[in-house]
Amino acid sequence: MLAEAIGELEEKIRIMAEELETIRRYVERLEQDNASMEAIIRGKNLRTSGKANLLALFDAGFHVCSAHFGETRDGDCLFCASLLDKEPLRHEEE
Ligand SMILES: [Zn+2]
Repeated sequence: MLAEAIGELEEKIRIMAEELETIRRYVERLEQDNASMEAIIRGKNLRTSGKANLLALFDAGFHVCSAHFGETRDGDCLFCASLLDKEPLRHEEE
């Protein structure tokens, strides 16, 4: 009975370790995405318009739509496309 209980515990620990590894990889990816976005935004002139920043993010492969903002984009996104077409150019004041 004790061996059985230990076996169950070991199985649970194994599953938790797998989940932890999955989460760790996910966090790593988010950190990389975040670093990429920061680099893009920092590389841009601060006086460029909000739309230019969004376009730069979009071109770099990120969503700029409110539904998936900041997530990596696998292909075209109708929400992003409509946002980038519709948002009027505006200049941010520093
Ligand atoms: Zn999108």
